[in-house]
Formats: sequence, structure tokens, C-alpha cells
Amino acid sequence: MTAQLGTALLAKYDINGPRYTSYPTAAQFTHQFGPDDFLAMAKQRRTDAPLSLYFHIPFCHSICYYCACNKIVTRDTDQAGTYLHYLDKEMHLLDTLGWQHRPVSQLHFGGGTPTFLSDEQLSGLMASIARHYTLLDDDQGEYSIELDPRTIDSKRLALLRKLGFNRVSLGIQDFDPQVQEAINRRQDFQLITEQMAAIRAMGFHSINFDLIYGLPFQNIKSVQHTLQQVLALSPDRISCYNYAHLPHRFKSQRSIDRQQLPSPEQKIALINTVIHTLTDAGYVFVGMDHFVKPDDSLAKALNDDKLQRNFQGYSLNLAEDMLSLGVSSISDFNHGYSQNYRQLADYYQALDQDQLPIEHGISLSDEDKLRRDIIQQICCHRFIDIARVERDYPLDFHQHFKAALSTLQPLAADGIVTIDALGIKVSDIGHHFLRHIAMAFDEHLGAELKPVSYSKAL
Ligand code: SF4
Repeated sequence: MTAQLGTALLAKYDINGPRYTSYPTAAQFTHQFGPDDFLAMAKQRRTDAPLSLYFHIPFCHSICYYCACNKIVTRDTDQAGTYLHYLDKEMHLLDTLGWQHRPVSQLHFGGGTPTFLSDEQLSGLMASIARHYTLLDDDQGEYSIELDPRTIDSKRLALLRKLGFNRVSLGIQDFDPQVQEAINRRQDFQLITEQMAAIRAMGFHSINFDLIYGLPFQNIKSVQHTLQQVLALSPDRISCYNYAHLPHRFKSQRSIDRQQLPSPEQKIALINTVIHTLTDAGYVFVGMDHFVKPDDSLAKALNDDKLQRNFQGYSLNLAEDMLSLGVSSISDFNHGYSQNYRQLADYYQALDQDQLPIEHGISLSDEDKLRRDIIQQICCHRFIDIARVERDYPLDFHQHFKAALSTLQPLAADGIVTIDALGIKVSDIGHHFLRHIAMAFDEHLGAELKPVSYSKAL
């Protein structure tokens, strides 16, 4: 499949674009949307349907220079105690939704560094979640946590497993010592090898590695070496993200010397190396940075209606709603999205006033829902079935999406999509250009597509 994917085509489509973890994207969230809108939206949802829960833990022990996450770097572990107090308060306020009996089919702890929390704090938070929501047995729910390898040992892994986590995601980024030094994140291969053995022995169901390309000192040889080390450890899933150097937006990135970064041409060669190495090793390219083993549930879900794209990237569609708690977290309901305050002080202040800490959000129009559906079809199923769209929505597809079809013509000429009477089909090489195809259907994009707003679409 990837043999046809050439550097020239990658270079031609090397543009900025949204990652479509939501549609409309967060750039469209508005401050007109507040707690009352959140409650009105949430109260329309079924109180017995499966639920996905996300908890954001923003603290980190030290700064990784490339980081663009919402995090607070501190050594003061008391801060986490205060934060957990407010998370508990948020859970109490959300009890008004009456969602305590919704089965939690997915739970995810992200950050920051969730394992910044002490064993006691992690245990206390899980106990608190169990008091407010209905957690499922190990074989029924996907309960995952992001791990910073520098903050875990086998005792801690055993605790996480005991608390109910059955999936882990390790922030690897790159194994090369020079790269690690330049990004201020030192974690050697031996450490990860030992942790992988412990994770496997404890019966976690799935292991994900996060990698990054475009970091200082990376070159084809060094990335190939890292990939061989990754393959030797054989994670079930691999996400490989593009490093976007935006030092004017993310202060920590000012510690990265621009001269040490690969050039745009070198970055294209790097992603080409990643794609070819991982697919040649048997990984399935799901799309948009995600690779999985062929027997992984995501690979199996590719061809049925179980795959979805949300704020955690690709996942199985196991819940109707995602309720997210903690500073900056984004909830995803069928009718819209809401985001909590991004500054800790604002988040605390709202909760001190017994208010849900909603900073902004959006209620989706019918047109937004239609286009979100189309974009999900592209990202998750790689086919837009025109008859299905015309059956589900009162419209003439060709008339309604005249502009999008016109935008797609050059992509069709480059073999990225085929367009016929049945629908729009993403080709094999088109799997690498899902963001570009989706962008043709994004009616908010014109005003928002600026180099600083979105990362590279490849
Ligand atoms: S990359 Fe992760 S661990 Fe590093 S500073 Fe960012 S959030 Fe913290």
C-alpha cells in the first residue's frame, strides 16, 4: 500500500489543518456558551446509556521542551491534593445530571502527568469516581491512563492494575539520547524494556506508545533506530505525532534551538520513514498518526461502525457521550461540546462559587451535525456513501456539497480519492491525507485556517 506514497506527494500536501478530534473544532467554541447551556445539552441525553469519562491531571514534575499540553510544572505535590478536592467538587455538582447509573464503558486519565499523583491520591480519586459513577468489570470497560515512564515502577503499575486500569499509554517520543537531551526528557531504552515486561506480566489489555517526529537532532538514521527499538518492544498501538515548533505560543519551546530541528523536507522524509517502517513491520495505518497491530480492536473496527474520532484520537465507539472533568477538559455530547476553564485559578473560582467550571463551548447546528457525520465517515470508514447521506438527511448530496466536490477534484487527480455515483472513496494512499479530505467539508475553515492555528496535516 505504501509503496506508491512518495515524498513529492507528501511535500505537495504539507499544509496546516485541524486534527478533527471534534467538528466544529475548538476554534469555533464561543463564550456565549456557559454552564446553563451545558446543563440543557446534557439533560437531553439518555441517563442509562454507556458513558465515557475523562479526567485531566495537569501537573508534571519537569518540563519537556516540545510540550504544547495544558500543564503545570511543579514539585509541590500539595497542589495535587488541592486539585483533587476541586475534582471531587466538580463530580458532586455533576450529580445533578443523574448520570450515576450510566455504565462507564470508557475511562481515561490524561494530562499533564496522571502519575504525578501519589498512590494514595490515585486510590482516593478512583474511589471517588466509583462513588459517583458506575464502573464496570475488567472485561467490559476500557480504562486507560497516560504514563510518564519516569514516574512509574512495578509497584505503581501493580497499583494501577488493581485500581482497574487495563490499558496504558507510554510517552516515549524518541529513544535517541541526544534527542532526549535536547527535549529535556531522559528515559532510556532499558527502563522502558523493564516496564513493558512488568505491564505485560500484570495483564494490561493494551499498550500504546506515543512517538514524535520533527524533534531536534532527528534524522532518518536515528528515527530508524528508534523505530527498531519500538518494534522490539512490540506495543499494540503506536501514535506518531508531528512536532509543531510554535515558540511564540508555547514558552517551553523557546528552549529548543531552531537550528537543531529537521528542515521541512527532512520532516517529510522522516514521516515517510515512519509510515514505511511501521507498515512494513505489519502495523495497520488507521489514519492521522495512528498505527495498530492487525489484531487490535481498532483495526477490526475500521470496517464496521465501531470506530470514532474524538479528543483522544481514534477509539472504539463504546459510549454515547464523553464527560470530561478537570481544568481545560472538553466534553463531547451529541448536540455540542463544552470546555472547562483552561486556567487553574478560573477553574477553582467557578467551583468555589458552586458553578460548573465551563469556560466556553458550542451547540451544534443541523449543518454542523451533518458535516461532523461526513468527516467521521472519512476519518473512520474512508468512504462517504452518498445514498446513505441522502437517506439520513433531506438534501441532494451533489448540490449541497458542490463546493466540497470541487475542492476534492485535485485530490482525485492525485489518486487520493475516487469520486463516482456511489460515493467518495479514500484510496490506499489517501489514508495518509484524511485531514485534507475532511478539510473540504469543513465550512468553518476558510476564516480559521492560519499557519499558527493548526498543526501540519501530515
Ligand atoms: S509532555 Fe507530558 S510530561 Fe512533558 S511537560 Fe508535557 S504534559 Fe508534562
